[in-house]
Amino acid sequence: MKGQVSKKRFVLNVFQEKCPKCGIGHVFKQNVSLLKLPIMNEECENCNYHFDREPGYFLGAMYISYGLAIFQGIVTFFLLHFLFPNLSTTWLSISVIAVIALCGRKNYKLSRVIYIHIFPW
Ligand SMILES: [Zn+2]
Repeated sequence: MKGQVSKKRFVLNVFQEKCPKCGIGHVFKQNVSLLKLPIMNEECENCNYHFDREPGYFLGAMYISYGLAIFQGIVTFFLLHFLFPNLSTTWLSISVIAVIALCGRKNYKLSRVIYIHIFPW
């Protein structure tokens, strides 16, 4: 087992989807098809940290995922609104929904990893 994760590596560990305790093991199984939902490992392969702390533990990750989707939608809206001022409301709406849908898989993973890094114990 390695030492505790330093504050400097916190953000890097979140984006690389690493274990909140050791920063080495992967939270999600690697090489899962893009068409399937990502599969979480039950424990860290390095330090045996149990990721799913209790039943319903990841319910809070839903709020983080919602926040990420809203943020991406707002950024997309303003980018398109200022880059293409003549874009119709219909195409603007379709574009925002498409970006949120395309980012859904990454949001799912990112929200869970952020959650276990915020509430590790
Ligand atoms: Zn670990």
